Amino acid sequence: MTLKRLLGLDTRADRYSYASDPVAGYVSAQKIPDKWVATTCGYCSVGCGMFIGVKNGRAVSVRGNPDHPVNRGMLCPKGLSEHHTIAADNRARYPLLRRNGAFGRVSWDEALTTMAAKFRETQERYGPKSVGVISTGQLVTEEFYALGKLVQLGIGTPNLDGNTTLCMATAVAGYKRSFGSDGPPGAYEDLENADVILLIGANVAENHPILCWRLRANPSATVIVVDPRVTKTAMLADLHLPLKPRADLALINGFIHFVIENDLVDHEYVARHTSGFEELRESVRTYTPERVSEITGLSVELICRTAWTYARARAGFIGWTMGVNHSTKGTETVNAINNLALITGNIGRAGAAPFSITGQCNAMGTREAGFASSLPGYRKFENPDDRRELAHLWSISEERIPTARGLAYPDIIEAALDRRIRALWIIATNPVVSFPNYGSLRQALESLDFLVVQDGYHPTPTSEYAHLMLPAAMWGEKEGTYTNSERRVSKVNRAVPPPDEARSDFDIFLGVADALGVRDDIFPGWSKPADAFEEWKRISAGRLCDYSGMTYKAIEQNGGLQWPLPAGKVHDGEVRRLYTDGKFQTDDGRARLLPSAWEPFPEQPNEEFPFVLNTGRTVEHWHTRTKTSKVPILERLSPSAWVEMNPADARALRLKPQARVDIVSRRGRVQSVELRVTETVAAGQLFVPFHYFEANANQVTQSAFDPISREPNYKQSAVRIEPSSTEGRLWSGGSAIRNSLSLIRSWRGSTIPILPRGSSESRARGAR
Ligand code: SF4
Repeated sequence: MTLKRLLGLDTRADRYSYASDPVAGYVSAQKIPDKWVATTCGYCSVGCGMFIGVKNGRAVSVRGNPDHPVNRGMLCPKGLSEHHTIAADNRARYPLLRRNGAFGRVSWDEALTTMAAKFRETQERYGPKSVGVISTGQLVTEEFYALGKLVQLGIGTPNLDGNTTLCMATAVAGYKRSFGSDGPPGAYEDLENADVILLIGANVAENHPILCWRLRANPSATVIVVDPRVTKTAMLADLHLPLKPRADLALINGFIHFVIENDLVDHEYVARHTSGFEELRESVRTYTPERVSEITGLSVELICRTAWTYARARAGFIGWTMGVNHSTKGTETVNAINNLALITGNIGRAGAAPFSITGQCNAMGTREAGFASSLPGYRKFENPDDRRELAHLWSISEERIPTARGLAYPDIIEAALDRRIRALWIIATNPVVSFPNYGSLRQALESLDFLVVQDGYHPTPTSEYAHLMLPAAMWGEKEGTYTNSERRVSKVNRAVPPPDEARSDFDIFLGVADALGVRDDIFPGWSKPADAFEEWKRISAGRLCDYSGMTYKAIEQNGGLQWPLPAGKVHDGEVRRLYTDGKFQTDDGRARLLPSAWEPFPEQPNEEFPFVLNTGRTVEHWHTRTKTSKVPILERLSPSAWVEMNPADARALRLKPQARVDIVSRRGRVQSVELRVTETVAAGQLFVPFHYFEANANQVTQSAFDPISREPNYKQSAVRIEPSSTEGRLWSGGSAIRNSLSLIRSWRGSTIPILPRGSSESRARGAR
């Protein structure tokens, strides 16, 4: 395939003449923009600054912003091709209402009047809480702030949550328990300042590529990757710890045990700024290197060497993502990470932070302003002072502020299943592909009396279930702000208008408020996102996430501004970290050292389901592929799902590379997936990307959730491999079950050897 075809360019020579563009270099004449509009990438939480090239009112290209402090002009493959997501042929264009089983076009007026009437009717019959709302990490902060007020104060249901619970709730809950508040304490610059970087369950090379580039900008740091797979990030590491699935909590407790036993504790920091050290010491007493070696499958020497290296660092950075968060023990694992950072004094200094790398472009915005798991400004539902202050700022009676959070996302789905939730509004997310245990999710959606789906695309697997479809503008078509993982607020701008009758989510929220007759009450004088931003600045003033010193203009001029930025503070470009003074957001100002006990994962493999299935991402795609399946280069690079299996298992099952296989669990079957035989997964484990509706990994994942954060345990499902029920020709083995016992026997005690950083062997192993 030629490069031009791969990039999705038409190869007919008469359509392409090449010309010099002053900023983009030599490009297709058709693609030389009339203007460049500065904005922020709408995919991941790295928050890269970029420009959208616009020609004749259409987005035709994208380039990185060389002055943006996050990415300094670099973009990953998704960012570089993001303009294609705007022009997709399945953009939602008109409000659609289902009548007699079929969608028909209606006016916005009819759509919003119908929605308001259905919600009110449902609440009158079944109570205020019978309506639920599931949002996203994709809106701008101004929209999250507006949506929270609309749902909690206007519609009057506390049952609001977002798909951020599927990826970040664990980090939020862990930070709140340890430090008294959500908020990642560090900054990206810490990757360049640290002398030891410990990445746990974080494959930044695939999932946050520009962070990987920043990681490589610090060649003198010792990079340690803890991951059951030999990921692309592990291949860049100095040390890879290929632990057994879900052994992370035992490993971290083992590090803490080693640090305490060998007196590597920062006693002064612990005495001045933490509480609970004696309880922590007692809780890790049994996590000896020998026991941890047994649980993790790692050698005693490797465990001790890693603990020593981190504890002796001048500045130690710990980053983590879904490998930690997607677990029934996730919140406790985050607490253990925080414990390790605290007892070694690795927080609040350049290069030293326990740092949750968030997922979506504005997951942070909903955490700060969203009124779902916290009140806006990280205020607590259960704190009467916080409720009183908020009521005063909004000039409303205190009784209108809920005293406890409503149902979290998985509990909204469960409530729909047992008919406590009757009407649901899903905004910019696609649970049919992203929610675990597809079978129960489908039943829940089918149980609803009224489902509204608001999205930039239609049809999507989820919008097919809707009674009402609201067409929304998306990235590149609307204005506001995103906050990235390092708490940097960046501007998002409109480059092109939305298609046909699609409206910005912000305008839709104003319209719903109008239809409900609550607009003047909750959005006084608002007509544009800047009105919400000005109110949000007031609400956040004095809080940890203080925006009051920001303006849209200053955000644009500085390539984003990190919070906290109180009013009157100079925009000095200084990197901001939290807890630099050792004062935390707890009642006594001390961070809490919280004992956390390791447990085996809930669904252990057995003879019938002998493999442990891990799910995750690939660099070419974004979440459920609603956007990236419309981008030619990304779709061509990664058009369909696959499953990775160790060569020993493939041999035992007599399976050949590229065979078509089914993945089967107690809950369902993923059909006809390509088999990739690779040593990047250990024997007994499998890996499958979760992006593909056509091979939906969530047909086999389980309904198991972290009891504290409610985040799903997407990983470690017990499965077996069968010949494809539709194409089984390449299967040359017998029954998977027949081979299971010998497989389990052969895996006992097996681990993948450590590969030297950048070795030719490690590179070869990464080849897919
Ligand atoms: Fe966009 Fe993330 Fe890629 Fe940056 S790293 S270009 S924010 S997807």
